[in-house]
Amino acid sequence: MNTSMYINGQTVLGTGKTIDVINPATLDVIASVPSTTSEQLDECVAEAKRAFASWKNVDDQEIVQAFYAIAEDVLSYKYELAQLITLEQGKPLFLAEVEVDLTVQWINYIAGLTIPVEKFQDINGKKITVYNRPLGVIASITPWNWPFMIAAWHLFPAIKTKNCVINKPSEYTPLSTIKFIEIINKHLPAGVCSVILGDGQIGSAFTAHPDIEKVTFTGSTSTGQRILQNSINTLKSVVLELGGNDVGIVLDDVDIEITCQKLFMSAFLNAGQTCACLKRLYVHDKIYDQVVQKLTEIINAQVIGEGMASTTTFGPVQNKMQFDKVQRLIEDAIEQGATVIQSIQTKPEKGYFIPPTLVLDASEDTAVVEQEQFGPILPIIRFSDVDKVLESTNQSEFGLGGSVWTKDLEKAQKIAERMETGTVWINSHADLSPEAAFGGWKLSGLGYSFGLGGLLQYTHKQSIHLTEA
Ligand code: NAD
Repeated sequence: MNTSMYINGQTVLGTGKTIDVINPATLDVIASVPSTTSEQLDECVAEAKRAFASWKNVDDQEIVQAFYAIAEDVLSYKYELAQLITLEQGKPLFLAEVEVDLTVQWINYIAGLTIPVEKFQDINGKKITVYNRPLGVIASITPWNWPFMIAAWHLFPAIKTKNCVINKPSEYTPLSTIKFIEIINKHLPAGVCSVILGDGQIGSAFTAHPDIEKVTFTGSTSTGQRILQNSINTLKSVVLELGGNDVGIVLDDVDIEITCQKLFMSAFLNAGQTCACLKRLYVHDKIYDQVVQKLTEIINAQVIGEGMASTTTFGPVQNKMQFDKVQRLIEDAIEQGATVIQSIQTKPEKGYFIPPTLVLDASEDTAVVEQEQFGPILPIIRFSDVDKVLESTNQSEFGLGGSVWTKDLEKAQKIAERMETGTVWINSHADLSPEAAFGGWKLSGLGYSFGLGGLLQYTHKQSIHLTEA
């Protein structure tokens, strides 16, 4: 297993401190990776800048062919990559394979996009052409929940628009990204795509670097705010995909069986560690008890364990910090008088395992409802007046996603339009599309990703005005 950074098309050995990568299911140290030094960071950015001088003129078709070849190559390593994801992140192997498949889908979609050139005559008859030009060297910083797929969300739009990009994966989950960037480098010139390693300290120096033109970041709101502060001196632009506290509103006409299966996946996929997963569920009073009962049945059918075991359906929380945070929220909910249901008791003794947990009758000012939990815990709140739910949930400081669940699609559309979030789903939640803009309102983000609009965030405009001599 390669545990080194990858700079200018070459593996670069570490000279500074190292960070252990821990399997969250067993607590075994599975690798030790070097932290990039500030000299290595400077060298990496300088090499990327040098590579940009020719990459910015690359032919579009060369990029398309390279992306298709990378997608194929990623698929040929699917099992190895999925294993790395499971070992470092904890999710069951079948879900890690889904992560690789979705990544390939994203790469192929981005390959097929065309960067538009706008030509027109202005009101005085002058010919104007507006181009979308590459920016230069892009910094990408990724989190530990979907480490492989989110890396692709950053890297491929940046490269497609003829930038050079350097990624820093989370220090908790660097291994699948290192392998990914090794594969990418088989198909691209040296310096176009590199990886540096380390924690927030090198991340901070990276985002403040004067030769970085843009930062694309997925992670917590507090880190996003620090990155934005770092961008002031050089006026670098940023895309920030941050935290959320997504609301789901279930009306009283739904099919309980089908809806609860989907609600379970929406809230507990990846042990609840997904930015846009369902984090607060409002259920109509008439069906509240039935929904709780059905969700409990679905939870009881889960097998909690190490992701590599073929029977496992539910993995651990990824790291101790997040494990402690979720445990504290559970204890607080109990202290505040809520009913906490942890119906599965069977779990491995070692590892950061928390069974899927339902919290009933919590008041709206309880921490588990107000804060983003980012773990396997779902507060379910009873309601009878949807206007009141919208009024209170729209006051959230977050605005990432929301969902409405009903057979009445007209009513659903009206409710969706009143939700103050970047994405609203009707009868589903968190099923993202590479074609639809995705970004958070309020403290959930700045800028957006996906689709042609997301791609063009990696460009700046150049208007050429042509007047006959
Ligand atoms: P985090 O902010 O702690 O870390 C994310 C990345 O930032 C890591 O690579 C980390 O090393 C780096 N980092 C830490 N401090 C830094 C600094 N000062 N400067 C630059 N980089 C720094 O977040 P996390 O704990 O890894 O991820 C969980 C959070 O991410 C949750 O809040 C979740 O909602 C959010 N998230 C959002 C999305 C989205 O698309 N909106 C997706 C996934 C996760």
